[in-house]
Amino acid sequence: MQTKVNRIQNDIETLAKFTSTPGKGVTRSSYSKEDRLAKDYFIEEMKKLNIDIHEDSFGTLFGRKEGTLKDAPAVMFGSHYDSVVNAGAFDGVAGTVSALEVMRILTENGFVNDYPLELIVMNAEEGETFGPSTGVTNTRAMMGTMTQHELDTVKNRFGQTKAEAMKEYGLNPDLKEAIRDPKTIKNFIELHVEQGPVLDREKVEIGLIEYLAGIGRYTIRFYGATADSTAPMKTRKDALVAAANFIAEFDERIKELGPDVTGMVGKLDITPNSNQFVPEYVEGKIEIRTFSKAIVENVDFKEMIEGLLEKAGEKFAIRTELQEIRRINYPNPTGPSIMNGDNVKKMQRICDELGYSHVLINNGTGHDSMIMTDFVDTNMIYVPSRNGGVSHCPEEWTDYESIKKGADVLLHLVMELSKKEG
Ligand SMILES: [Zn+2]
Repeated sequence: MQTKVNRIQNDIETLAKFTSTPGKGVTRSSYSKEDRLAKDYFIEEMKKLNIDIHEDSFGTLFGRKEGTLKDAPAVMFGSHYDSVVNAGAFDGVAGTVSALEVMRILTENGFVNDYPLELIVMNAEEGETFGPSTGVTNTRAMMGTMTQHELDTVKNRFGQTKAEAMKEYGLNPDLKEAIRDPKTIKNFIELHVEQGPVLDREKVEIGLIEYLAGIGRYTIRFYGATADSTAPMKTRKDALVAAANFIAEFDERIKELGPDVTGMVGKLDITPNSNQFVPEYVEGKIEIRTFSKAIVENVDFKEMIEGLLEKAGEKFAIRTELQEIRRINYPNPTGPSIMNGDNVKKMQRICDELGYSHVLINNGTGHDSMIMTDFVDTNMIYVPSRNGGVSHCPEEWTDYESIKKGADVLLHLVMELSKKEG
């Protein structure tokens, strides 16, 4: 059995028309009119498949095909279809459409599954829509880590809170109703475009993810005092010298923690940023990546950064400040998301059988799969991004044939996982 590239292409081209910025890429924000139009398209396509269709109180769409086993956990597969402003047509959609096509192929061929199959179509993955760390809404609601506080406080570019936007969309966001017992889900599988240049550059057709690094983010601020370039050295309160000292020490500390963590200050804003004046204010952004759960459990990064800020502040007689950028209910940094290793091996064999080249790949940004790994056996399939791997812009591109190959791997993994063992 193989998926059909012409249907995948048609789905993606159709969905790309549901945009609020025609001619300027795809803009399909969560809970917008375009979101609803895209969802209606998925529902129409799913109705042709004789599967049970259900939309939960957070707008997550499910299409379920029961199996021979009663009350058994489901093999769940899918992705999201919302986008950032002026995005491309492939981020999220490639995975959602592949999952739909897998369900089509299985029902058309009269495939008999033992475990239930469940297509999941999500509409609120992008963190840009309601601000940093507010994405992956559907899976957080499903796994019970979403909070009412977030629904009532974070706002989109129209000034609506998440709860208000959802109500206008026709939902009654009920945290309890959306919760799904993880025991009812056997597997969670997501296909996604790589959003990076590796697969295309190496000419590899399929990327199999073993883990995705955890992420930590902080903003640091240094308040000095400006002065003329002739001001005596002794009297200065140079915010940039303090920041530079902090950065060097932070780099040392991170190195001391070993290879399981990386970190840096990757961005600085300097005021007044002039060669003639002593810098009075510096704001920096810290980015941390973690590769082992132990590092998150054993190291208090906030305390470490605060200590270093205090030290720099005292040494240069200036005030410092730390702001955490974090997801409610999650540590900062988060731990890495570890995928199911047995299924990675299964997919390597499936790729070999299908004649598709494959490689293990462990880079990536936020995905719903990251949320799911804490609760359910999860796996991800990457397909190559073209144009240097750019995404979240109109130039984002993945060849339809590449998506079809990823969908074939998804198809065969879903078939294997939905069968009773032995
Ligand atoms: Zn995505």
